[in-house]
Amino acid sequence: MQCRLFLVASEADAKRLYAALGTEFEPDGFAIAITDTDEAARLHTVELYVDETEVTETQTRITSLLSELGLALPVEREDLPDIDWVAKSLEGLKPVRAGRFLVHGAHDRDKRRPNDIAVEIEAGLAFGTGHHGTTAGCLEMIEQVVRRERPRNVLDLGTGSGVLAIALARWAHVPVLATDIDPVATAVARANAALNGVGRLVHGVTATGFAHRDVAARAPYDLIIANILARPLMKLAPDMARHLRSGSSLILSGILVRQREAVLAAYVGQCFRHVRTMRRGEWVTLHLKR
Ligand code: SAH
Repeated sequence: MQCRLFLVASEADAKRLYAALGTEFEPDGFAIAITDTDEAARLHTVELYVDETEVTETQTRITSLLSELGLALPVEREDLPDIDWVAKSLEGLKPVRAGRFLVHGAHDRDKRRPNDIAVEIEAGLAFGTGHHGTTAGCLEMIEQVVRRERPRNVLDLGTGSGVLAIALARWAHVPVLATDIDPVATAVARANAALNGVGRLVHGVTATGFAHRDVAARAPYDLIIANILARPLMKLAPDMARHLRSGSSLILSGILVRQREAVLAAYVGQCFRHVRTMRRGEWVTLHLKR
């Protein structure tokens, strides 16, 4: 459980205390704040958020700091019960449609229509519930590219919750390598793949870019999708070129409208050509071929 330790003081005392607490506690990574509590009485509150296991020790340290500053103020405590914010925020998430795909949580299974390709995601610890414009953009692009090109060996680089890899496996019935730099994401992606009945098709590997034996070994890919961010995507351009089968498609996202030209330039420099740009809000998804 988290606890809020706080002290109420005059503006001048509160500011001194806030500065002293900063010096004392910031190296420990504690969150400290000062707020104007009562404007008329000129009272300020200085607060510190700590884990309950650290409360006693922190109170002792604050008390000795107070005596050094010559202040006699009570240290008050408020307990903040644990709330599973991730679960709470997911409860409110509505299912997302992108092309034929419907990305939904367990609570919305009844929203599936007969022709939907449903992807159930209990994201929690990994990015990718379908609500972000980049994910939705990729899903739409995937639907079109798969319909036209029938890829058989796909890489989803930066898989997060596994949403794109699962959508692909369910739609194309082909193996997908789903990689992420974050081992938690890889584990979540594997679990989500199993939940969606494509555990055998989606293979999760923790790797940075192409720097992993399994990622290199399965190349060349005939479709690569990477929804990361503009800068890492630009750095990855030569590796993408090396690992994509010639004539195949690359779908990139995580790119802001104003970063589009720079990302395109990096890929044109690797002999990719631009096929299409799809915009969703301030984000773009690019379809390139080489
Ligand atoms: N593919 C999902 C998640 C996108 S979030 C979707 O479209 O919704 C981007 C993910 O890429 C994160 O999980 C992050 O950990 C991962 N990532 C960032 N840089 C990476 C890199 N260089 N190699 C592999 N994964 C990376």
